[in-house]
Amino acid sequence: MVRRKITLVQRIGCVIGFIVSCFFALSFISTLIVSLLNPTLTSEFVKSHFIFSKFGVVGGFLIHIIGNLLFAAVAIFLALLSWKGFTSQLNQAVLVTTKCICKNCGKVHKLYYKSGPNPTDEYCKERGFIPFPVDDKFKCDCGFEIDLSSFRNDLDEGILY
Ligand SMILES: [Zn+2]
Repeated sequence: MVRRKITLVQRIGCVIGFIVSCFFALSFISTLIVSLLNPTLTSEFVKSHFIFSKFGVVGGFLIHIIGNLLFAAVAIFLALLSWKGFTSQLNQAVLVTTKCICKNCGKVHKLYYKSGPNPTDEYCKERGFIPFPVDDKFKCDCGFEIDLSSFRNDLDEGILY
């Protein structure tokens, strides 16, 4: 199974997206609240506005309110979307499989590394995969010890095979 982990850049992008969306959501919501609390001021704003004034005071007022409501909804939606992107895979199980070849006898070993309960160890073993050794040293049937620390580094960096 190959699944590419989302990168740090993508994660940072999600955070920035979330902050920007929240900022816009808050500004639209606060504009909405201020407009509703102070209709007189809003009417003056609508009258002086080059687009809203074309629809009359009531029409412009409604467009202004509905527009803010819509933009706030979109901003909230985008904020939720980026938050979901940020938290995705945080608690998600990761399964990494890799092959290592014994330099002594040439035998190919299939290894797996996983976080999370699924798939089960039985599932992996049934398909001929051996758990990634905790000490990074894999002993081949021929007795040769294979050093897997370079693979470990890749695992820690989240590079999936
Ligand atoms: Zn060997």
